[in-house]
Amino acid sequence: MRYLYSIRLLCLLLVPSLLVAFSPNESSAAGKAVVSDVKHWSNPNYTRVVIELSKKAVFSQRLLKQDPSIKMEWRRLYIDIKGAKLAGALKKPIPINDGLLKVARAGQYDNDTVRVVLDIESIEDYKVFPLSEPFRIVVDVTGKGVAPAPPPPPSIAPPVASEDAAQKIPRLEGPKKTEIRKAKEGITITQQLGLKVRKIVIDPGHGGKDPGAIGRGGLKEKDVTLRLSKMLRERLANDSGPKIIMTRDTDVFIPLEERTAIANKYDADLFISIHINASPKKTASGIETYILNISNDEEAKRVAARENATSTRSVSDLEFILNDLIRTAKTNDSVRLATAVQERLVKGLKEKYGDTRSNGVKGAPFYVLVGTKMPSILVEVSYISNPNEEKKLQDEKYLREVIEGISTGLMRYINGPGPV
Ligand SMILES: [Zn+2]
Repeated sequence: MRYLYSIRLLCLLLVPSLLVAFSPNESSAAGKAVVSDVKHWSNPNYTRVVIELSKKAVFSQRLLKQDPSIKMEWRRLYIDIKGAKLAGALKKPIPINDGLLKVARAGQYDNDTVRVVLDIESIEDYKVFPLSEPFRIVVDVTGKGVAPAPPPPPSIAPPVASEDAAQKIPRLEGPKKTEIRKAKEGITITQQLGLKVRKIVIDPGHGGKDPGAIGRGGLKEKDVTLRLSKMLRERLANDSGPKIIMTRDTDVFIPLEERTAIANKYDADLFISIHINASPKKTASGIETYILNISNDEEAKRVAARENATSTRSVSDLEFILNDLIRTAKTNDSVRLATAVQERLVKGLKEKYGDTRSNGVKGAPFYVLVGTKMPSILVEVSYISNPNEEKKLQDEKYLREVIEGISTGLMRYINGPGPV
């Protein structure tokens, strides 16, 4: 019932908002929007389909029941995109066959409309929403049960945590006194983590053609986030620890919606996106941790716009369009996770460096957190735009303290507020 309600609500929200937001003159004045690609990521319980376009376009969606009388063997979800034409390379059907969706097909429905059709085998819920700059339409489809996720490809598997080791680790629901006692008896943080959390996705912000923020001394955010993420992977991964999956472990560009899809595809238990902050104000400094939420804080919106590579106007549009999706996110667990990481990170750095500023836990609509199925946070570690902090971000000792803070924060989240 809740699902039906949320689909209806999203439809009500989407149709008028899109019609208002994107004037039909936009496409006719400067030519049609070209539907250039349809990508997908899936496991047996989740599929994300992304339709890429050359510019903004009005779209609508409809779910059709199967109807053998007109040879419609499967239920269908279709997206009609107005003022659009199909790129030639997309004329062949895209097989998916993951148990939820059979196939995706794109076609020129009429002169002005591209129709993307998804043939459905079995789905429980779906969401359709746009992301901006560049414009793309995301379709998230979920199934009825929790299915085992496929193993990650070797290129992104941790160097020391094997698939077998991860599968043997039982997944427990809550912290137990015996485990806390064992912790005191010398079990390592990573071993304890592995008892409760089987898979953690670490997402190093930016990469490849997207450098992220750049410091006055030339330090690039994409390089620091990758370095920190590799250090965190090393800190957490051992035979009895959680399996660590990286959204990237080289200097490569990965779209934000793909990072979310990776976390969902591998059925991760936690998602941590690592970034370095920046501000036009040279003196801005400190640490802040975000969860996905609607925001009234102009500064938080500015950070989200920068990380989404969009205007702040697009951030406000996103809040309106995704109101329903944001409200159903795992907010409570994400707040607990964000609070634990923020507190431990600031505490550790203050002990060693004294002048570390806590900017707190905040909510804002970050693309990379939209649609994640697990507790998810985005950490902004220091300001690369602040010359003092830029210098620290090049210091191995400082980075090690940051990693210690994040990993003990994870531990605090898992074991609750008791002694760690
Ligand atoms: Zn960033």
